Amino acid sequence: SQNYPEWIWQNGQIKHWREATVHVMAHALHYGSSVFEGIRSYETPDGAAIFRLTDHLKRLYLSAKIYDMDIGYSVDELAEACRAVVKKNGLKAAYLRPVSFRDLGGFGLSAECPISTAVAAWQMGPYLGPEALENGIDACVSSWQRFAPNTIPAGAKAGGNYLSGQLIAREARRLGFGEGIALASTGLLSEGAGENLFLVFDGALHTTPASASILTGITRHTLITLAREDGIEVIERDLPREYLYLADEILMCGTAAEVTPIRSVDGKKIGSGKAGPVTRRLQELFFGLFDGKTADRWGWLEPV
Ligand code: PMP
Repeated sequence: SQNYPEWIWQNGQIKHWREATVHVMAHALHYGSSVFEGIRSYETPDGAAIFRLTDHLKRLYLSAKIYDMDIGYSVDELAEACRAVVKKNGLKAAYLRPVSFRDLGGFGLSAECPISTAVAAWQMGPYLGPEALENGIDACVSSWQRFAPNTIPAGAKAGGNYLSGQLIAREARRLGFGEGIALASTGLLSEGAGENLFLVFDGALHTTPASASILTGITRHTLITLAREDGIEVIERDLPREYLYLADEILMCGTAAEVTPIRSVDGKKIGSGKAGPVTRRLQELFFGLFDGKTADRWGWLEPV
């Protein structure tokens, strides 16, 4: 089974993994009332660094604001907790998971429960499998739609949102695909179960807008920035489903998925069926941030 790391930060204290527990009647367990982040640290020539830690934590506070949750720690305090968990577990290339949630304190939907916060970290390789970054994955369009904008806010990274993600990801895997792509309630393209989507046409990148019920990912923003800097045009726009079948290249991106090529959608081959030149260039620029080949002009690498 899982080989868990030893230490977790919970409500201001470093605890043993097995002692970092929650009551079964905690509000979040029943109603999905948690907000969280997924962050990666990388081993760089200058030591371990947490990628865009501050930007991720800022998003955590925005998610909490939407749900009226007062986290009670400052961004700096949580950043320090993130660093402490990486250090104390002796990690370098890791995945960090800060989570804040309505804890035990009432059973009504609008109960004023205390907010608990924890930060875990563990070693993690490529999310969609070791082959995925190199050879790409086979994706399918999900039979499950993303939630509509006036139902659950896609811009908050909240626990409950991931019921949608689980339906999409589990259906895809059950049918033998590497990942599922969801349509928005408008019928237009949205995003992957836990990844944003980029399509390439004539050397330009096209990506779906916030209005397509996506989480506006930090990796998405990173790729937009790196691409524009490199002279690659980036267009945020509505995209109909059939553009998936017509694109020269498609890639998915996210903290976990990093920059993953898609080689087929619904059994139709994309481009040559291998990662295309724009995808390769973005991988080079993105992973170059961590081995020093891409200059970090934005202060994205935050030392542990
Ligand atoms: N969309 C969804 C639904 C996600 O869960 C994620 C992963 N956090 C992303 C997009 C990508 O976001 P990021 O690049 O900030 O990890």
